[in-house]
Amino acid sequence: MKIALFGGTFDPVHHGHLAVARAAAEKFGLGRVYLVPADLPPHKQKRKLTDFQHRFAMLALATADDPRLVPSLLDAHTGQPNYSISTVRRLKSTLKKSDKLYFLIGIDAFMDIRTWRQPEELLAEVEFIVVSRPGYSLADVGQALPESLRPPELSTMRRRQANGTIVSMGATVHLLGEVKERVSSTQIRAAAARSVKQLSRYVPPLVAEYIRKENLYVGSSAQTNSAGAAKMLSSQEGRHHSHAGRSHKNG
Ligand code: ATP
Repeated sequence: MKIALFGGTFDPVHHGHLAVARAAAEKFGLGRVYLVPADLPPHKQKRKLTDFQHRFAMLALATADDPRLVPSLLDAHTGQPNYSISTVRRLKSTLKKSDKLYFLIGIDAFMDIRTWRQPEELLAEVEFIVVSRPGYSLADVGQALPESLRPPELSTMRRRQANGTIVSMGATVHLLGEVKERVSSTQIRAAAARSVKQLSRYVPPLVAEYIRKENLYVGSSAQTNSAGAAKMLSSQEGRHHSHAGRSHKNG
């Protein structure tokens, strides 16, 4: 079976994450996508994450109706920072010989890959599926690779190519054309005081109910500017913040 590992903080899971998982499943014929919330992301967060249990519960609610999408406890309570290289190796050790594992990631997170622990080894362990966003191309993916893995033909690559695959020095990275759900968890946290109905535009209805029932994100630092953020959500239809300046949490 073809399987993908999709890591993140999922604080909370939203339509963007689900669209990424479903688009990759369709395009690559994945039988399973493990959505793996990080308990201890390796890179320092600017804010305290919502309890792991809540983030996992929301993932379970969001994925319940799609048999391909499976919330995973792989990175739960390991007591160690959740480095992707060790998560991948642990998952691979449980798979059958006939299984094939992919690492699924959004392009904004992929742009930081060089700062992760053992990026060359990680790219040698597993094929990557990078989900694009407007303005990114295959050349950007090549540019983000560690220097030792960059393809020689990078300079001649077409700047606008929005899909395709780079195979270079044992690394394989597929770029999947953009997924058009522009919402981010940051925006949802900032607008959590809105009604379940309004929140349901950005997260599945059961997740919206859960956020309100458990009073999540209310009073968080993101909340201090909730009025402005709520306004931003309605005016921009949840346009995602650019990756510039965001704290990266994979590794
Ligand atoms: P935050 O706003 O808290 O930074 P986020 O919405 O980016 O969170 P994460 O849990 O950090 O969510 O994301 C996990 C993965 O999903 C990352 O690889 C990220 O690039 C990708 N991702 C998140 N939102 C989208 C989206 N709307 N479209 C495509 N990829 C996305």
